[in-house]
Amino acid sequence: MLLVRIYKYIMEIINNILSNIFTNFMAGLLFNGTIIFLVYFLIWKKFAKRFQNFRIQLKNRVNNKQIRRELKNSLYALLVSALFSTLVILLSMKGYTKIYYDTSEYGLFMSLISFFVLLLIDDTWFYWTHRLLHSPKIYKHIHKEHHKSIDVNPFTSMSFHVIEAIILTFWILPVSFIFPIYVPTLILLQLWGLFDNVKAHLGYEFYPSWWNKSVLKFMTSSTHHNMHHSQFNGNYGLHFRFWDKLLGTEFKDYEEKYDNIKNRSKLE
Ligand SMILES: [Zn+2]
Ligand SMILES: [Zn+2]
Repeated sequence: MLLVRIYKYIMEIINNILSNIFTNFMAGLLFNGTIIFLVYFLIWKKFAKRFQNFRIQLKNRVNNKQIRRELKNSLYALLVSALFSTLVILLSMKGYTKIYYDTSEYGLFMSLISFFVLLLIDDTWFYWTHRLLHSPKIYKHIHKEHHKSIDVNPFTSMSFHVIEAIILTFWILPVSFIFPIYVPTLILLQLWGLFDNVKAHLGYEFYPSWWNKSVLKFMTSSTHHNMHHSQFNGNYGLHFRFWDKLLGTEFKDYEEKYDNIKNRSKLE
């Protein structure tokens, strides 16, 4: 009898996890899929001619084969993301994480500050794991999949090898155990992550010409990550330029290239 009870208990947990993964996967597919598809449709198809001068790479190399590969990879990446969301949600429901719902627990200020702290942690994690993934022995097994896309487009933004998807998402798990995270802050962070990722793989530069001459220049533009795909050994950061600047890994002609694209798009 005891064995039957243990069996039923374990099956209940497994069922709970699987149904949560499915729900989170479908939610991610619908939300991310709609945004990525819309951005692709509007910029790459409907207004492609109008935005021609905003293109970062002038040689159009995206074909259906590339998009099919990116879509297939994205499904696996979404599954990984759903798995991590499920783990974080279930662990927080059991009270194992420091995720909280009520601002009175840590105050509104802390909730706001935590967004920037988490963004910095995400950027630091991305920079260093990205550099590790570029080491020759590891590169060909994992990160090469993402770099098969040279002329990047919105569908490239989730096109990773499944192990890379796990590595990139992993940080949230240990951080949620030690750092208080307000639920809306976590949602905002995910939205920002999606926005910045799609921006990085947009293939077009829509930031204003003054961007790199303003206080906002510490934030990467679309050109920044696009150069990483076309020139490979530099511009490893995602959200910010701090780490690339500090470690001397930013392409020297980044700002010049940005200005050239902006001068070209002004000719319209
Ligand atoms: Zn890379
Ligand atoms: Zn990329």
